[in-house]
Amino acid sequence: MGDELTRVLTEGLESRSTSAAGRGDGCVLVDLWDIESSFDCPDCGALRADALRRMNLTQRPVAVVDCDCQGPAA
Ligand SMILES: [Zn+2]
Repeated sequence: MGDELTRVLTEGLESRSTSAAGRGDGCVLVDLWDIESSFDCPDCGALRADALRRMNLTQRPVAVVDCDCQGPAA
């Protein structure tokens, strides 16, 4: 996995995973290898990793964690 692919996965992982699960496009599996280090925010990093882990298990969209590090919540 090159640096560019890693960056793309990190930036788009959460939104793409959530939308895919929401559309019901079959099996959604997020590669959780080293996932915790992809979210380096001390406030929400663990929560985001856990949310993706739960989405893998349930195959259902999970609530996105609101945190200041992602900008103002909608
Ligand atoms: Zn955060």
